[in-house]
Amino acid sequence: MSAPLNYIGGRWQAALDGGSFERRNPADPSDLIGAFPASKAADALAAIEGVDGARRAWAATDAEQRQRVLERTADLILARLDALARELTREEGKVLASATQEWRRTAANFRLYASEAHRTLGETFANSGAGVTYSVREPVGIVLAITPWNFPVSIPSRKIGPALATGNGVIYKPSELTPLAGQRMVELLLEAGLPPGVIALVQGYGADVGDTLVGSAKVGAVTFTGSYPTGRRIHQAAGPDKRLQLEMGGKNPCVVLADADPARAAQIAAQGAFSLTGQACTATSRVLVVGDIYDAVVREIVARARAYRLGNGLDPQVTMGPLASEAQQRKVEDMIAAGKAEGLRVACGAQDLDSPLPPQGHFVAPTVFVDVPPSSRLSREEIFGPVVCVSRAASYEEAIAQANAVDYGLAASIVTRDMGRALAFAADIDAGIVKVNSATGGVALNAPFGGFKHSSNQTNKEQAGHGVMDFYTRTKSVYLAT
Ligand code: NAP
Repeated sequence: MSAPLNYIGGRWQAALDGGSFERRNPADPSDLIGAFPASKAADALAAIEGVDGARRAWAATDAEQRQRVLERTADLILARLDALARELTREEGKVLASATQEWRRTAANFRLYASEAHRTLGETFANSGAGVTYSVREPVGIVLAITPWNFPVSIPSRKIGPALATGNGVIYKPSELTPLAGQRMVELLLEAGLPPGVIALVQGYGADVGDTLVGSAKVGAVTFTGSYPTGRRIHQAAGPDKRLQLEMGGKNPCVVLADADPARAAQIAAQGAFSLTGQACTATSRVLVVGDIYDAVVREIVARARAYRLGNGLDPQVTMGPLASEAQQRKVEDMIAAGKAEGLRVACGAQDLDSPLPPQGHFVAPTVFVDVPPSSRLSREEIFGPVVCVSRAASYEEAIAQANAVDYGLAASIVTRDMGRALAFAADIDAGIVKVNSATGGVALNAPFGGFKHSSNQTNKEQAGHGVMDFYTRTKSVYLAT
């Protein structure tokens, strides 16, 4: 591994003022991952200038060259899969199987977008005048990618991949919780043949860097994934004339109808709620049960919650890793305390687990609240941890009303044998992703992905599928007469 540095103007370098911040293993805070540059506005400005100087030559390259770089990046990832996955588990905390799956998905994203390098097409138009009218799609210039820690390589790859495929320069700002993953991504792209300076890596945190990057007139597009409050701030800093993609939080429901098998419903709900320690934007946060199978569904969810074994994700016996940081741990613990203070009943908590909580690290037990009313804070706010709220609904109509009564609209699922109801649910639910008889989490490589309401800004929201390439190119219409 090279030293933890920024990559700016084609050079690996420390923060200009020499500042740094530490990142530690969330399963074992005595394990130091590294000290990374704490960038400031001056670093951000240098990154903008560096990419601005390199992007035109990249835009002028043959599509085949851009395709090759992205394909080689995928090859390098797969050749080093085990080492990369282990490092990701150490830095972010997710269990090794999830880390391996994430790097695989990252390679798949790079392959997918490599093939898009050849599909940046224009059109020709019939018109009444002489000559030819045609449109071309050209890169937007500099794309700024700001990404969260929970999928610290797959989310960046579905932004950096299409941006580079279409000939843009990229400024990449990873989360302060996963700087090593960010550095790896850039190292792999450079090793795969990306010319120096086409990408810049700006580590660190704070509005100083964020506002400088987002507000720069030289940045043509900002693609952000993260929380709603940060998204709002970025929206303001970007102003009205910047191309902007904001992918934000969720409060995702799983509706269980009375005809469902309680064990299967609980398996789907628990997988949605507890995979990745509940730290997924598409995690199931609410389970709305219709009819008298309620008690059976609760019993089955609790049985699954209790059985999780928490610990270091490198241990093959471990099925749930830690929260990503002490701050995340506190946030989730505060929400659990708020639920208890409201008088909500906990059907499973730390004291109920079959295996004890590890003595160190940022661990929170899988927690099941029951009989949670729609008015509760826990029913409305994103928790982003292994906490699920189970509620009763008197009818399908009441379940839909509860499911839609939140500010977010990212993912939703229904468990039923009645396909008519399932199709009605797909129409009635206010969410960008609808699952029938499977967990809210997990999305296809190539299907449109983006939420409604506070989960996305509603322009350019698709992060996958046919529409995604439009964000990274701008269209010019040419009227050609001789
Ligand atoms: P976050 O706190 O909003 O941070 C996201 C990114 O924004 C990080 O790189 C962060 O940097 C950066 N940032 C913070 N303040 C900024 C500013 N003023 N200007 C520019 N950038 C700024 O979110 P997170 O805690 O990393 O991620 C969890 C959230 O992401 C959850 O709400 C989750 O639902 C959402 N998420 C959504 C999706 C989706 O596809 N819809 C997918 C995954 C996650 P620092 O970390 O250095 O502060």
